[in-house]
Amino acid sequence: MTSYANKIEPNTKWTETVSEPVYKTVVPPPNFSTNAIHEGQEAEKIHGAINVPIYYSSTFKQHEPGVLYSKHDYSRASNPTVDVLNECLASLEYGKYALTFSSGCGATTCVLATLKAGDHVISIDDVYGGTNRLMNRVMGKFGLQVEMIDLTPKNLEVTIKENTKMLWIETPTNPTLKIADIEALCAVAKKHNVVTVVDNTFASPYLQSPLLLGADIVIHSCTKYLGGHSDIIAGAVVTNDPALYTAIKFNLLSIGTCISPMDAYVLLRSTKTLKVRMEEHCNNANIIAKYLANHPKVVKVLFPGLESHPGHQIAKKQMRNFGGMISCELKGDADTAKKFMKNLKIFTLAESLGGIESLVESPALMTHLSVPPEQRLKLGISDSLIRLSVGIESIEDLLDDLENALAQI
Ligand SMILES: *Cc1c(COP(=O)(O)O)cnc(C)c1O
Repeated sequence: MTSYANKIEPNTKWTETVSEPVYKTVVPPPNFSTNAIHEGQEAEKIHGAINVPIYYSSTFKQHEPGVLYSKHDYSRASNPTVDVLNECLASLEYGKYALTFSSGCGATTCVLATLKAGDHVISIDDVYGGTNRLMNRVMGKFGLQVEMIDLTPKNLEVTIKENTKMLWIETPTNPTLKIADIEALCAVAKKHNVVTVVDNTFASPYLQSPLLLGADIVIHSCTKYLGGHSDIIAGAVVTNDPALYTAIKFNLLSIGTCISPMDAYVLLRSTKTLKVRMEEHCNNANIIAKYLANHPKVVKVLFPGLESHPGHQIAKKQMRNFGGMISCELKGDADTAKKFMKNLKIFTLAESLGGIESLVESPALMTHLSVPPEQRLKLGISDSLIRLSVGIESIEDLLDDLENALAQI
């Protein structure tokens, strides 16, 4: 019997177009994949199971009141499966401590809740929409002062006030993939005793290590690259500061945005392949960005790996490769974008990003619909801008798909 693979004609059309991917000179963290696969994950002690058991237990038996079997008494506070995941994630971000949450927003909530009424937070102007909503419309009600700026070290220096307590950096941003200089911004913040947080979701721990660049806290929506398969919602926080860790852990226990043991297991399993997935995302995105940049129906490509990108030099300095996210402006209007997206067969029309499957969306019509049109334009989000989350399918098929859809607009 011939296998399925033998029945498919190999796609050789692109072999000439597909250039060598860009490899960065910044080396990955030492032992990255070994840590991803092994850190905190010794064989289970009773049966020798290779994988950590999913400890589905809300509560834990005590020998006497307060005398525990190990350290766990209630799973909102701690759980053995979650503990293993936390240890593993900490090692991938050069951190001592990690905590995991029911979502990226759950993690953000517990970090912002370390502040109090009257404290001032500075964040990048095109911060993730959910973070913006949480800061302004939820924490704002409790007296948090929020200021969102074009986040350059110079602008930061003049925006910091007496009561500025936290700097919230996100890089690359969504959907214009703006790059912030983590090292320079953290240096300014440090001078003024401002705690720095970096949302590292778009880069993942494999491409960017904010704690090494001076950040106090790294935050992730693990729903994206860390989870990597579009199947779970989860968040994480990593830090080296014991006081911050204790404060955020207290908030997690109090607010209750804990991750379930099942999702912790799924995330732990996904994390093992983060490096190989990221390499493929980056390779495919580097090729697609170049292809789109040379296409006559594309006005502009936003991708930090292109020399034309305003943040390219900083991205080269702080990232190991440029990630899997690309935005591009098509020649035309919102209808052109709609038609293009409708004609794609492999790129699926959906929000979110970072999964192994390629996704496409229109920021103006979908993720950034709630941003007022004039502010959208100021941020560079035109009606014909589309955002691609480049997956790890065969590059030839992805290029075919884009070419077919572009030919029809
Ligand atoms: C998705 C996302 C979040 C929020 O994470 P959830 O897991 O959806 O709650 C935060 N920051 C960035 C950059 C994101 O893309």
